Amino acid sequence: MTKTIFVTRKIPEVGIKMLRDKGYEVDVRDIDSAPSEREMIKALKKKPYDAVVSSWPEPVGADLFDRFPTVKIWANFTIGFDNIDIEEAKKRGITITNAPAATATETVAEHTFALAMALAARVVEADEYIRRGKYKGWSGMNFIGTDLVGKTWGLIGAGRIGENVTKYASAFGLKVIYNDVVRHENIESKYAATFYSTPEEILKQADIVSLHVPLMDSTHHLINTERLAMMKKAAFLVNTARGPIIDEVALVKALQNKTIAGAGLDVFEFEPKLAKGLMKLDNVILTPHIGSASDTARNEMSTLVAQNIIAFFEGKVPPNKVN
Ligand code: NAD
Repeated sequence: MTKTIFVTRKIPEVGIKMLRDKGYEVDVRDIDSAPSEREMIKALKKKPYDAVVSSWPEPVGADLFDRFPTVKIWANFTIGFDNIDIEEAKKRGITITNAPAATATETVAEHTFALAMALAARVVEADEYIRRGKYKGWSGMNFIGTDLVGKTWGLIGAGRIGENVTKYASAFGLKVIYNDVVRHENIESKYAATFYSTPEEILKQADIVSLHVPLMDSTHHLINTERLAMMKKAAFLVNTARGPIIDEVALVKALQNKTIAGAGLDVFEFEPKLAKGLMKLDNVILTPHIGSASDTARNEMSTLVAQNIIAFFEGKVPPNKVN
């Protein structure tokens, strides 16, 4: 029997072609937005699919697993898989994979760095100033920012993306400190990064704090009012991980009150909605969840999705199985 695969939304063609070249039947919902639960159910009813390519933030859990028992593998086209109920999948023996493309982890690290540099050099404010016709000539006092060199970069979460951020930060002459639930001795020996067993130490010492933990119960609102108050007044907070890791209402207050100097956000607590007041602040830089959006990264992610499904159908353990 020909294997059938449903892809919930547009992904780069390379992975689709790999699956079709194997002789599988691939149905792609040719729309670039998350399907609603109703749409998803309607689409999956069409055929007894063997696999689904899902994407964050589409919720995948017990209800879909029970309704569509022929689907034995859900291959997420993203690195984060907090949209999938892993425990429920495990109970039913359903395989879940993600797409932690090596190039994507570099891309997210670069985006993290881009946000930090744009905050330090006040790039977005300055761009807006020119576009509004306010630039009347050079001034030695205009848009005075801050240097990154010599500062301390603090990471919370030092896995794949965190390691790349460490590489860039140390190349830029920053001292790196990190907190993680596991110790990453590789970044200590390669980049002289210093481990701290609590996030509080990072928040107190760092000039730039970046977040690279997965969203889980233990990381939900990891950054809250109390912890924001521990940060230096001149510090920047960068989040390219997941929105709910920060209590966004608390962050808006901290930015309004200048408890911290600024924030760079690629992800939001109630995406695509933003907390009230966030958009009005000029000490925040906002990007629409594009941390891994480079051509190389997205093509590699599409390739990994196909490799995971092919391995599964061929009776092997998919390289990016997460459960
Ligand atoms: P990873 O699994 O390689 O690293 C995560 C690290 O966080 C691990 O070292 C883990 O031990 C650590 N950790 C877990 N819980 C922790 C806690 N409570 N406190 C401190 N450390 C903790 O993941 P990664 O590939 O580096 O990706 C990190 C996250 O980035 C993903 O889970 C995803 O949500 C997010 N992401 C966002 C984008 C984007 O487009 N903005 C793209 C890719 C990934």
